[in-house]
Amino acid sequence: MTELTSYAVQAGNSRGRAIVEPAPTERNEFQRDRDRIVHSTAFRRLEYKTQVFVNHEGDLFRTRLTHSIEVAQIARGIARSLRVNEDLVEAIALAHDLGHTPFGHAGQDALNACMQDYGGFEHNLQSLRTVDLLEERYAAFDGLNLCFETREGILKHCSPQHARELGDVGRRFLENRRPSVEAQICNLADEIAYNNHDIDDGLRSGLLVIEQLDNVAAFSRHAQTVRREYPGIAGRRLIHETVRRMINALALDLITETRSRISAVAPLSLDDVQAAPALVAFSTEMHEQQKNLKVFLRDHLYRHYQVLRMTNKARRIVGDLFGAFMEEPSLLPPQYQQMSRLEQADTARDHSTKARAVADYIAGMTDRYAIREHRRLFAVGEI
Ligand code: MG
Repeated sequence: MTELTSYAVQAGNSRGRAIVEPAPTERNEFQRDRDRIVHSTAFRRLEYKTQVFVNHEGDLFRTRLTHSIEVAQIARGIARSLRVNEDLVEAIALAHDLGHTPFGHAGQDALNACMQDYGGFEHNLQSLRTVDLLEERYAAFDGLNLCFETREGILKHCSPQHARELGDVGRRFLENRRPSVEAQICNLADEIAYNNHDIDDGLRSGLLVIEQLDNVAAFSRHAQTVRREYPGIAGRRLIHETVRRMINALALDLITETRSRISAVAPLSLDDVQAAPALVAFSTEMHEQQKNLKVFLRDHLYRHYQVLRMTNKARRIVGDLFGAFMEEPSLLPPQYQQMSRLEQADTARDHSTKARAVADYIAGMTDRYAIREHRRLFAVGEI
């Protein structure tokens, strides 16, 4: 392995785990974090959670699992080029979406609306809550007991109030400091992955047609080159050849812009990175193109009537489940009843605890589990 830069996060200098454990043998601390994430229950659930398209709509659409693998792949490539910690990047990328609800953003918005009086719901905070608390895999502690740097990388955004509640891992939000280069890479690799795979999935589903994308520079400039190099190319091959060039161009642009920012700031340590403005970034031109692409996807894919029908249904399912469990907590599986300490749920604080347990249960559901659970609770004739 090439030597890491001086401002990369080093496994040997990790700020460690909340509960001290013996050092791993034959792997470093961040490799161990990655392994814990891959073996977690929440990670396996990602396979059956919607990215944009509901899981049962087709076998070839991205799920949260394949999305997370794509993010890890893109982020690792960038980390290697910039000589920062690839193992840490992989751990953060694979964990970044663990807290997502079923049914993608529609599910998160619905659950957040339900949780308004109880501190809200935010999938990114929930990812941290999953690895810190909800996984039940170890005899000695709750959660996965990951390294500080992995946890800090998972927490992409955070309100000042939550930051205060979270203590150490939230401190940078109060001090207006940036996360590590590794975490910054994951954040933008996420964007590279979803913008591109949503185009691919949108075209595959037929909700988007290629002609619509002719006015979107991020796509059309590559599609034109492909058509020039391969006259007569069409359909799937044109789409895939274009999308792969888009991903490549974005990663290269990111590496070039980041290198130039790094050479301007000349950080020597992780501390310098955290004090500097964002170092990992796209060039201004690429940033603009990505912004336009996002607007296009929002207007033509995320707000497509067929997608809205699905998200509307999803919102209703999440809302119904939340309402039913809040009203009748004894319908919850025993471990969530225990978490919510239901027998004493009479003060406002108890109600918040109960609501949080309900939110944890719902957020952990896969799409089809939520659909089944909804049927079990609401359909006459189902048990
Ligand atoms: Mg993501």
